[in-house]
Amino acid sequence: MPVRHVQPPDPQRAEAAAHCGRCGAALYDGDEFYAVNGCVVCEDCLPGFAREEYRSFRLSGREWRML
Ligand SMILES: [Zn+2]
Repeated sequence: MPVRHVQPPDPQRAEAAAHCGRCGAALYDGDEFYAVNGCVVCEDCLPGFAREEYRSFRLSGREWRML
């Protein structure tokens, strides 16, 4: 009769609380991330997300001078 091994709970298989909307990374109970206007953004994706989010505020020194 084959012996059945009971697998211990694998933290990698724990159910994710959320997934990053940009890279799809699974975010678990202990992870911290940003929920911006309903978008889930992980720590790694925040700089890129912020850059896109604030794109319309981006200007050059010359543009700033002419304001
Ligand atoms: Zn991400």
